[in-house]
Amino acid sequence: MSEAGADREKLDQTPNQAADQAADQSSGGDLQSLASSITAMASPFRNYLNDLHEKYRSVDEGTVADYIPELAEANPGWFGICVVTTDGQLFDVGDCDQLFTIQSMSKALTYGMALEDHGREYVNSKVSNEPTGEAFNSIVLDEETNRPYNPMVNAGAIATTDLIKGKDGTARLKRMLSMFERYTGRSHDICMPVFLSEKSSGFRNRAIAYLMLNFGMVSDRIDETLDLYFQQCSILVNAKDIAMISATLANGGVNPATQVRALDEHYVQDVISVMLSCGMYDASGDWAYRVGIPAKSGVGGGILATVPGKLGIGTFSPPLDVKGNSVRGIKVCEDLSKDFGLHLFNVASPEHNLQDWLSGNTDIDHW
Ligand code: GLN
Repeated sequence: MSEAGADREKLDQTPNQAADQAADQSSGGDLQSLASSITAMASPFRNYLNDLHEKYRSVDEGTVADYIPELAEANPGWFGICVVTTDGQLFDVGDCDQLFTIQSMSKALTYGMALEDHGREYVNSKVSNEPTGEAFNSIVLDEETNRPYNPMVNAGAIATTDLIKGKDGTARLKRMLSMFERYTGRSHDICMPVFLSEKSSGFRNRAIAYLMLNFGMVSDRIDETLDLYFQQCSILVNAKDIAMISATLANGGVNPATQVRALDEHYVQDVISVMLSCGMYDASGDWAYRVGIPAKSGVGGGILATVPGKLGIGTFSPPLDVKGNSVRGIKVCEDLSKDFGLHLFNVASPEHNLQDWLSGNTDIDHW
């Protein structure tokens, strides 16, 4: 089969076929990751995460996204928490193998790729770095420069998707999927029903793209770029993938399990700083104040949170608050930040020493 044919076959997979394939892949693994997971299993940090999962499992606030029928089908009870450290230890609790669409979390990765493709100066000329204080899908551009406000809301993300290089839509998608693969260490499929629904109902995103075309902020390959944007939102991931992406950013752009570089080290700081200021939409200021961990959420129920130099967190729970962020995911990140002093600006001694808890150098009865 030709390469394009093989790609096509992948895109045509149902979510269930994709899930089977993912399970096959996760049964492999080299000795190094086996050693890491043994350490992780023995660690009291796993008990901590179990307790956290138990603490928030029964929270029934929030509503599952329903702007397309496929997302509305999500089980509100799904709940997974995964943490990957920069030295490659993985801790997972709950529904961490359940696949869901990455949605807006993809925006952080696409921004990084746009920076690699064009450099900081050019990218900054097409998208600013200011929080909007408005909803993720607001139709608003900077009045003076006509740039979208930041790459973490739809307008800015469509602009950065436009910057992804490639001779046509297939080539651009292929580059994007390989980039995701470098972050997670495994290949990814697109959920076709979600993609087709996003594409056929995404009038608001289409309006945003045409407004930006009017101001010369995007090229005129609008349909191709919107397809790519909807495809990137429809990439299937699980909570482990999300934690691995977060840990890769925390590890300076190198996947801590595979040692493969996913992002040029010069741009890691750009991506993480925009996540801190804008990643949680119009809740970003409050998030920075209370949690202090650069993060990005998606309407599929995922949150990726990156503690530079230390670890990546990936949470999955579909019910969202009014701003579009996962309710349980927020609570988990708040607790992790508070209990282990992970807030970027924390200078007080944390209640618990992360290294001790990871290595097992503590008595879990005291938790
Ligand atoms: N596909 C969604 C959109 O473009 C992504 C939004 C999100 O995750 N916040 O509207």
